[in-house]
Amino acid sequence: MAFPVASINLAALRHNLARVREFAPHSAVMSVIKADAYGHDVKAVAEALADSDAFAVARLSEGVHLRQQGIEKPIVLLEGVNTEADFVAAANYQLSPVIHLHSQVQLLQTIKLPKPLQFNWLMIDSGMHRLGITPEQAPMALELLKASTNLTDEIGLMSHFANSDLVGDSRNQQQLSPMLDLRDETGLAVCLANSAAVMSFPESHLDWVRPGLMLYGISPFDDKSGPELGLKPVMQLKTQLIAVYDIEAGEEVGYGGDWTAEVPTRIGVASIGYGDGYSRHLSNKSVVLLRGQKPPVVGRVSMDTICLNLNDIEQAVVGDEVTLWGLPELPVEQLAQLAGTIPYELVTVICRRVQRELSDG
Ligand SMILES: *Cc1c(COP(=O)(O)O)cnc(C)c1O
Repeated sequence: MAFPVASINLAALRHNLARVREFAPHSAVMSVIKADAYGHDVKAVAEALADSDAFAVARLSEGVHLRQQGIEKPIVLLEGVNTEADFVAAANYQLSPVIHLHSQVQLLQTIKLPKPLQFNWLMIDSGMHRLGITPEQAPMALELLKASTNLTDEIGLMSHFANSDLVGDSRNQQQLSPMLDLRDETGLAVCLANSAAVMSFPESHLDWVRPGLMLYGISPFDDKSGPELGLKPVMQLKTQLIAVYDIEAGEEVGYGGDWTAEVPTRIGVASIGYGDGYSRHLSNKSVVLLRGQKPPVVGRVSMDTICLNLNDIEQAVVGDEVTLWGLPELPVEQLAQLAGTIPYELVTVICRRVQRELSDG
């Protein structure tokens, strides 16, 4: 049996998509499956989320990959493209690059695509200052885009929140306002809400919502876990114990001797490390699940292994299953806090060396 394994629960994915529709019953859903579906295996996720109205990824290469996997739904490229060759590729693969720069609008005036781009989105910078043209520039850009034969006239307005995880923060309303104005002025569809806004800012749902993280059963909020929001965690990260042995009081464990046994200690070694994407920032901080208990990780996380203090788990033996996260007792949100990061990062960086195993329930 191969390990480590990231077990991907397809039924949980479908449940979470249904949960999105409960939160935003009047909006179409663009499911965000960038970065290999946040590390969950994009092909499996796209198939499980076939009920989505559209998909979004970041880059052209991700969109092409999905088409090659036989995914036929509309696919938005959230980062857009900047060259004629990439616009041609997008058109040929029926991908929808977001237009977020005036130079992209200009390029579309000068080239001739083999077929028109469909399901188009103009990205507006409503305050995050990452990607997008200003709300003031939007009417002119729309005029030019509508006149271009390189696009169908199916075009909507997109923007992105910088602070939607901070519920009630006035900056969210400040970002919503210009989008509502543009929607009134142009009559075009608006796509704004990411996961946090889907769950906490109903006024922002509008025509399309654009959730990522919640589809994977994970909470974007600091003070709530996925299950507390009615979501089901999709990824369970597991491995095995590959060694169990005893050390004396005073002996050190791992690189740098960062942990010293205060009493005679039974050490277990589990086969997972930062070379699998298990964060080195969890050194001496995290716990795992083993035989229903939570032994702590002791010493530094190595490339391929972690060491555990098994003093309270006498029965532990080589071959025992070790769960790193994804069970109710050990949500990935909790580990992210211990690692000083966000759960997005922990799941997204799980490497290909970790086998994805699909389950359905
Ligand atoms: C990643 C991303 C999303 C999804 O955000 P979540 O917080 O995961 O729901 C939506 N829109 C854009 C532009 C993104 O980059």
